[in-house]
Amino acid sequence: MSFTIHGIGVSGGIAIGHAQLMTHAGLDVPRYAVPPHQAADESARFEAAVKQVRTEFEELRASVPATAPAEFAAFINLHLMILNDSTLSVAPRRIIETENCNAEWALRIQADALLAQFDEIEDEYLRERRADVIQVAERVMKTLSGQPGYVPPPRSDAAQSLILVAHDLSPADVVQFKQHRFASFITDLGGTTSHTAVVARSLAIPSIVALHRARQLIRENDLVIVDGTQGVVIVGPDEQVLAEYQLRQHQFDLERQKLRRLRDRRAVTLDGVAVELQANIEQPADVVDARDNGATGIGLYRSEFLFLNRDDLPDEDEQFEAYRKVAVEMDGMPVTIRTYDLGADKDDVQERVTTNPALGLRAIRLCLTEPRRFITQLRAMLRASHYGKINILIPMLATAAEIEQTLALIQQAKQSLDDEGVSYDRGIKVGGMIEVPAAALALGIFVRKLDFLSIGTNDLIQYTLAIDRTDDTVAHLYDPLHPAVLNLIAGIIATANKAKVPVALCGEMAGDTALTRLLLAFGLRQYSMHIAHLLDVKQIILKSDYARLKPLARKMLRATDPAKLLALLEKLNSA
Ligand code: PEP
Ligand code: MG
Repeated sequence: MSFTIHGIGVSGGIAIGHAQLMTHAGLDVPRYAVPPHQAADESARFEAAVKQVRTEFEELRASVPATAPAEFAAFINLHLMILNDSTLSVAPRRIIETENCNAEWALRIQADALLAQFDEIEDEYLRERRADVIQVAERVMKTLSGQPGYVPPPRSDAAQSLILVAHDLSPADVVQFKQHRFASFITDLGGTTSHTAVVARSLAIPSIVALHRARQLIRENDLVIVDGTQGVVIVGPDEQVLAEYQLRQHQFDLERQKLRRLRDRRAVTLDGVAVELQANIEQPADVVDARDNGATGIGLYRSEFLFLNRDDLPDEDEQFEAYRKVAVEMDGMPVTIRTYDLGADKDDVQERVTTNPALGLRAIRLCLTEPRRFITQLRAMLRASHYGKINILIPMLATAAEIEQTLALIQQAKQSLDDEGVSYDRGIKVGGMIEVPAAALALGIFVRKLDFLSIGTNDLIQYTLAIDRTDDTVAHLYDPLHPAVLNLIAGIIATANKAKVPVALCGEMAGDTALTRLLLAFGLRQYSMHIAHLLDVKQIILKSDYARLKPLARKMLRATDPAKLLALLEKLNSA
């Protein structure tokens, strides 16, 4: 019998293979009584399981290849932290001894109590760490029951590609997964910002999360098609469907190969308009992929990732090293480092609870309340600017006063380096992200005071349409084609171009191939995007004729009917 399951595609492409199921420990275990005289032994059994899992984590951490994305090590560290926390590693022993119960039950009780606390948290990033707690608890549970804790190696009898089907995968699982080379993985759990999804993208194989019942419905060795682009799994396809997907897979692979040939081509339209295609990165290790995909610069280095998943703050030297590494490896190409955008869904101060974090003390607002921490980062960026072409980008600016205060702090950081005789690029450029509607509407202030602008459409859309970008329940209302959004973006680009202030766009819209031509027609000449989209966007630029697109884009700015807007966009994309 053939059936399909829908989830969230986190990494595109098509994989066809046979299912290999991963056992799911689960936390649903029975309680049984342990006589008081055996409680100490039961407690020791629990302690031994924790110790074994700790050793496994430490071994995994040591075995992470140098080429693996930095998230891998960070995730293992996070899991070690959860495991070492006394709420998971010590409290169950007290439960065993006071309630005279089995170790599995004590772990379950304690994990449930901990998870209930996570349910109360509003911050999506922190709430998603709930999944990490479950993964760690399940690993201890598996060890207690004598099951292997790891992703099984692919079956040796497998002649074809294997699709790993799991209820959930932990980052530690994924490290091994990388070594075993499955063709794809699909999981029941995981959201778009879950660790599983982040790692899936870095593995660049088709994968789907949030399938809910895949682990239950798919049987060992079932033939499975994974369409990571559409987020669809087809189980037991008939011959016709299989042939169709084999063809699509072949075409997809050919397309990727062809795209690779564009790596070193300059992105210029048919009528000679040159465009810069730059990469968004989260950490220095991403530079290798950025260069591999022909990025002509780093348009957005989200420096706040250096501050996450840790107990301490990175000091000036650690930050300097990270920024210097990127500058050196980009070999003279521009590297735009955004000062840390913490707060909202990327909070390092876990105890600070606010009702509307996206509207609260976030990004530059937070920096300006902590000038010492901010100046430390500014000094690190300035020092690194001696080793390459660094630009400083300030997130979430909304007022003239914020710009003035920021520029004054940059001046203060420069002065302190001058006093110490430390070199930096004296011509370093300072730009601002335009992601608050107020900034877009009062752009004059920004073009006068800043060297360049970068449009952050992810937040600009969130704030313009009053839609929380982290809230699934309103995700369907998040619309880049809303007339208000289109007019704001076109207005920012036109004003900046007129004032001859360079303007880039670094939100997700920059990597959306359906919007490449529209943005080009609005006058955009600098796109910065997720690395995986660089060559697709370049291909579209190479086939575009700017002069023919302009009138269509003007029509789109006057249109208000969504159906008409879509029809015009289609026309523009087939012109
Ligand atoms: C944006 O808001 O569009 C942006 C690029 O920044 P971030 O997604 O990090 O908020
Ligand atoms: Mg933003």
